[in-house]
Amino acid sequence: MIRQRTLKNEITGAGVGLHKGVKIQMKLKPAPVNTGIVFRRTDLNPVVEIPACVENVSCTRLSTTIGVNGAEVSTVEHLMSAFAGLGVDNAYVDVTAGEVPIMDGSSHPFVFLMEAGGLELQSAPKKFIRIKRAVTVQEGDMWAKLEPYHGFKISFTIDFDHPVIKNSNQRVEVDFATASYKNYISRARTFGFVSELENLHSKGLARGASIRNAVVMNDYHVMNEDQLRYEDECARHKVLDAIGDIYLLGHPLIGSFSAHKSGHYLNNQLLVALKQDETAWELIDYERYEDMPSSILRLDPAIA
Ligand SMILES: [Zn+2]
Repeated sequence: MIRQRTLKNEITGAGVGLHKGVKIQMKLKPAPVNTGIVFRRTDLNPVVEIPACVENVSCTRLSTTIGVNGAEVSTVEHLMSAFAGLGVDNAYVDVTAGEVPIMDGSSHPFVFLMEAGGLELQSAPKKFIRIKRAVTVQEGDMWAKLEPYHGFKISFTIDFDHPVIKNSNQRVEVDFATASYKNYISRARTFGFVSELENLHSKGLARGASIRNAVVMNDYHVMNEDQLRYEDECARHKVLDAIGDIYLLGHPLIGSFSAHKSGHYLNNQLLVALKQDETAWELIDYERYEDMPSSILRLDPAIA
């Protein structure tokens, strides 16, 4: 039986939130089988639990926010992406404010923390969500699509008329049968433009955003001293975001995701459309590792 996983130990992290710029304490804790990923606002009295699922998505402007009864946690996508990348099924995420710390703008610090703390196998079968029929959503020239595939594959095209991005590869296609999430995706940081940032700041948004937690571009160049981590870092970050958004399905995906200029809003619309069409997917588990697609094994590495 392929079993569910949780964290072996409690892990503590801290950092600032991207949007409000406040300092946040975060604790990642082991959780029982079939819990899923559950965020908890420990600064509220009583504490509010917010399960990470498609149905609880309350806002998709700039980041993905989940909420229950008005209590929210925003920017969950990078941490969710790390959970997906390491195959963590069950965990509690305790936060002392309405955001997940932005760390360096990628999911790598979360991957590092979880690998350091270790993972643990649990005594229930791991459930996968297998795509049986294609589902597509479209808005203007943006679209996103899920299709059947024996594995997990993502292709994403961005389209920015900016010299740094235009001269790089704007299309990323990654099949996790051959690529490792940690090496190929996790270090890609979120990105923004100075011109846009000034506008966001004037609206009280992106207050925590800085060169320490994002790739920041002026009209011509990357302003970060260390430049880009991958030549196509921006496109890879959109894949990182999509993996995190898709993990709000609550289970690892067996299928392919492709998108053109999609973002958190359209990603969520796609997941809502999928959930509504019960003929398009099924939940499955595997008795033997040999029966699983090899790409799932890569995304979901064996515990060291
Ligand atoms: Zn992001």
